[in-house]
Amino acid sequence: METLSAVAIKSHGSLIMSSGAVFEMEPCRGRVAIRSGKNFRVDSPPWNAVVTPEVPRELEHVLDLFGRNAKRKCQNIVGIFFKPGIFGHHKVGRAADIYRVGGVGLDVWKRRWDEAWQPCSRIRNANERRRLLDHERQTNLGWQFYKTLQTYGRWAQPYGYPIQLFGPWTRSEGPWKPISDFLLNAHRDHIHVAK
Ligand SMILES: [Zn+2]
Repeated sequence: METLSAVAIKSHGSLIMSSGAVFEMEPCRGRVAIRSGKNFRVDSPPWNAVVTPEVPRELEHVLDLFGRNAKRKCQNIVGIFFKPGIFGHHKVGRAADIYRVGGVGLDVWKRRWDEAWQPCSRIRNANERRRLLDHERQTNLGWQFYKTLQTYGRWAQPYGYPIQLFGPWTRSEGPWKPISDFLLNAHRDHIHVAK
């Protein structure tokens, strides 16, 4: 299996693998890279998310909405980091995996979320509890990003399968709360979406 560190870029976006194989990135059978927008920045190299045009079309309006909200709160343009996935819809270029939001790994955002929620069960005062949870909701970019994808994205749902949005919050937030341990463990450090 080729590693990404072994990849070099030639002129006009073709990739040379360590094996000497050359891949043309554009037009690459009608696939496109997900690019930065006005309100968000793609931090990963373009070949980390090479997908069919339907994916960025759906993702970009969600990213724009999320980025606008994040910018209003912290004044900064938020960075998104993709990594290439291999399972399921990735095989046909219809899925993307996001590993970092605002420069921080999704596993780290989730850990922060859990650490904020655990002590809340011991706080008797309901107002105090709400204040702590609201603060976490307002500042946790990983959770906010997941909720924006869930609320505003229209993701693929193949017949007999759940909606193709999986991540560290799927069991608690949905859309597919009965997600198996296996699938949840496979998405502890990233979010998978497919169109
Ligand atoms: Zn994936």
